[in-house]
Amino acid sequence: MAATLRWQTGAVTYYPGRAVVDLDAIAANVGRLRECAPTAQLMAVVKGDAYGHGLVPAARAALRGGADWLGAAQLPEALALRAAGITAPVLTWLYGPGAPLADVLRAGIDISAPAPWALAEIAAAARVTGTTARLHLKVDTGLGRGGSFLDTWTEMLHESLRLEAEGLVRLVGVWSHLARADEDGQPGVSDQIAVFDEAVRRAEAAGARVEVRHLANSAGTIAVPQAHYDLVRPGIAVYGLSPMPQTHPSPQVGLTPAMRVEADLHVVKGAEAGQGVSYGHTYVTSALTTLATVPLGYADGIPRRASNAAPVQVAGRQVRIAGRVCMDQFVLDVGDLPVAAGEKAVLFGSGSQGEPTAQDWADAVGGISYEIVTQIGPRVPRVYRGTGA
Ligand SMILES: *Cc1c(COP(=O)(O)O)cnc(C)c1O
Repeated sequence: MAATLRWQTGAVTYYPGRAVVDLDAIAANVGRLRECAPTAQLMAVVKGDAYGHGLVPAARAALRGGADWLGAAQLPEALALRAAGITAPVLTWLYGPGAPLADVLRAGIDISAPAPWALAEIAAAARVTGTTARLHLKVDTGLGRGGSFLDTWTEMLHESLRLEAEGLVRLVGVWSHLARADEDGQPGVSDQIAVFDEAVRRAEAAGARVEVRHLANSAGTIAVPQAHYDLVRPGIAVYGLSPMPQTHPSPQVGLTPAMRVEADLHVVKGAEAGQGVSYGHTYVTSALTTLATVPLGYADGIPRRASNAAPVQVAGRQVRIAGRVCMDQFVLDVGDLPVAAGEKAVLFGSGSQGEPTAQDWADAVGGISYEIVTQIGPRVPRVYRGTGA
């Protein structure tokens, strides 16, 4: 069933394009990732509207596939999981001073402390709500982003343990994030592991009884067993895409891309040789041909960089986008392929039917598969397939 779009009224849910999400693929991918990290628990990362797949349905599918935890960057995403009735452990980590942490604690959501200021705010929220915050202390082991470097780590630890003694927090986790686990040779990963081990050692020496140490993203889950610790946090791989498409393509890892984006052909018409196509005429037909318009554009999250670059499947064949991607549509030069208005164009999918994948799109536009699926806009209905749909 198509989700009702925010700006639609009444019973009209029609849209000429859609993202079909295979929930069974998400569940199976989680199962596969559990096999990659058999001794660790698994947190399915569902930030970014579950990488564009739809937060709640994707979260439920991941849990059905064996995920123990869910991870959401933004607080509203974590709260939305609880509002949907999901009771699994949830961790959230991205917020600024003044964030509604009391709501997070009331919802029984684990919270990260990325900097010293956050500890004071978490303690205040625990006091206000009369709860004990379940805290994951973040150490920056080399990414150079969130978390405290080792120079302020000990101070963060002591403050956390002081708050724990007061009953305001329970120091549940020590965690960090990898910078380059997806690269050939994984530069810096062993250094990050060494810093992480030192951070954990100091925590234990200070008397912390940490339940979960966690460091690995998808790349770490798939390719760095030493980074698994107690819990792994895959994101992109849950959705069947590989963070390392060159060395570990998703079919080789045993992952199935869960999102297929398709649209119904709008106008199909003959065109003479020499016809300029779409804004700027950056494509010109070279022979008598057929042009077919696809009613999805950059307002739907189709990258404008896909102009004259990305492949689309029509009538069982892949053709390249002709000319510029517009706000609502783009054009294919389909030659003499037998196509008619209303037939499906598949932008990307699992690849099992000869269609391009999100990775093919990423390669075509010079990006990463993460962007391709995450940027499919809210205007595009998500249609769910599989158990639990
Ligand atoms: C996004 C994210 C992940 C998952 O990363 P993938 O590369 O998609 O597996 C894990 N941990 C944190 C902190 C993240 O922000």
